[in-house]
Formats: sequence, C-alpha cells, structure tokens
Amino acid sequence: MRKASYRLAALVMSVGLLITVMLTAMVGFNMYFRNTVSLQERASSLLIFTFLSVVVFLFSIVGISMIQRALRKAAAPPRKPRPDFPFSQQDASAWMVSIIPAVEKVSGRSFSTYPTVKLVDWLEVGALLADELGTGCEKCSDALTNHLLELTAMQSSLRMMPYVIGKYGIRTGEIYLLPENSDRLLEEAGLDSSHLDDVIRLTLAHELVHALQDQETGLAERLAGQRDPMAPFNVVIEGQAMVLQAEVARELGLCEIEARLAALLEGRAAPKSGDAKRMADVYRAGKEIMRGAMQDGGAEAMWDLIETPPASV
Ligand SMILES: [Zn+2]
Repeated sequence: MRKASYRLAALVMSVGLLITVMLTAMVGFNMYFRNTVSLQERASSLLIFTFLSVVVFLFSIVGISMIQRALRKAAAPPRKPRPDFPFSQQDASAWMVSIIPAVEKVSGRSFSTYPTVKLVDWLEVGALLADELGTGCEKCSDALTNHLLELTAMQSSLRMMPYVIGKYGIRTGEIYLLPENSDRLLEEAGLDSSHLDDVIRLTLAHELVHALQDQETGLAERLAGQRDPMAPFNVVIEGQAMVLQAEVARELGLCEIEARLAALLEGRAAPKSGDAKRMADVYRAGKEIMRGAMQDGGAEAMWDLIETPPASV
C-alpha cells in the first residue's frame, strides 16, 4: 500500500512535469517561428506561463502531500492492539512478577526459568486449543482433558465458564490470560473493578503452580493420551493449583477474594452443567485430596502425590 502511494505520487509529478515541458515548447515554438510577435501574443504567452506555473505548483503540492502521507503512514506506530482490554500486557507482566515470590514460598519450589505471560483473544485461544488437541488425543470431541475444557471455557465465555481467564500452555510453557473475560469474571464473583489486579494475580498464581508442575514433572508428557478429566494425575495437578492459590491468597491477605474465585471454579456459586460441572468436579476433588496431603505432610506431600498420584480418586 505504501509502495502504491509512492508510485502514484511519482506519476502525478511526472505528468505535471510533462505537461509543463510540452506547453513551454509550444509557446516557444509560437514565439520564435511566427514572425509577428504582437503585444497580444506576448500577453497570451504570459497568461499561458502563469497558468503553467499554477499547474506545476498544484501538481507539486499534491505530489508532496501524497509522499508526506505515505511517509507518515510508514513511520506511524503499529495499531495499538485491543485498546478495549481492561488491562495491558505490561500490567499482566508486573502482576506476575509481584506474585512469583509468594508462589515459590508456598509451593516449596523455585522457578529455574520464569514463564512469560501473554494476553490472548478469542482467535489465539482457538489456535491454542487446536494445538493442545493434538496432544495424544485422537478422538477429542467426547474425551477432552481438563486442560482442553479450560481452553474451551476461555473460548466460549458467554455460554459457559466466563471465570476461566487463565491457562498454562503445556506445549508452549507460556501463561495465557483472556482479558475479554475479566469483566464477566468480576461480575460473577460479585467484585467491582477495583479488585481486577487481585483477581488476575490469583489467577496467575494458579497458572504459575502449573508452570512449576511442568518444570518438575513435564505436563505435556504426563497428560499425553489422557482422556478423562477425572484421571488421578489431572485431579492432583488441579488440586495442588487450587490449594496453593488459596495459600498465596493467605500470604497476601486476599482470602475473601480467593474464596469467591474458588467458589466459581468449584461450582459452588451457581449450579453448573455439562463441561462446567465436569471441571468443577475436578477442582473440588483435587482440592480435597491435596488439602489433606498438605495438612499431613506440608507442601512436599503434595509434590509426592504429583509424582505418584493415587490409583483412583
Ligand atoms: Zn488449573
């Protein structure tokens, strides 16, 4: 498009120049080869030259302004992505940095590398979903893992589970946030927008626990081929994330907000059906198992269950 603008500008200026040269030649021809150079003729020549100057001037102005516009377009910063998002990429990154020490403290594990957080929209969640569907899952329509349910939830906010706004990418090692869902999440949790940062930080705490699990045990490998969301490994990883998100909340004095979020995730806030109910079952069952483990043997007992999940849940 920029190239086309330059080409058009050059064309306009060339045409202007061409007309000037042609008319100048015609006037010169007229004055030199007709012997009678009357006052009238000189006056008309003057008129023609004045006209020509105006034409050249106009063409130059148009050409220059077109070049300027093309240059401005080239220099303009890229369109600000999703200006209607309730928080920015920088916000998300800052919130994540602020929550990492608490996650490391309550989990008893440190990050060897920090995951990155990325804001995604519907299309990107779709791509993520397609990518994770390829993880050892041949017939996924009737056999989604909990992770796929989370993604589906992110993608269909208004129909199903608007409160799922975070997701750990088991194939990419990145944490994804769906800001389009955050207003709805606050509304469902009965919180106003002043709690947005707390809600996102707790969501990030949950996803950071998945990142630590990935670091410790390799989630993609261990979830490969898993068909049932209620499979023990899936239940314990969600359970640990739920328990530690509550522990992080305790560290930061956000227990009341966390309780509201947990109530939504565990399906206690409102009757749920279908996939939402299946997810709620996973969160609830996992939390019960992991809370028991933590009471008995602290954070390490939870890691033992991640390593060797119970035979059945
Ligand atoms: Zn989770």
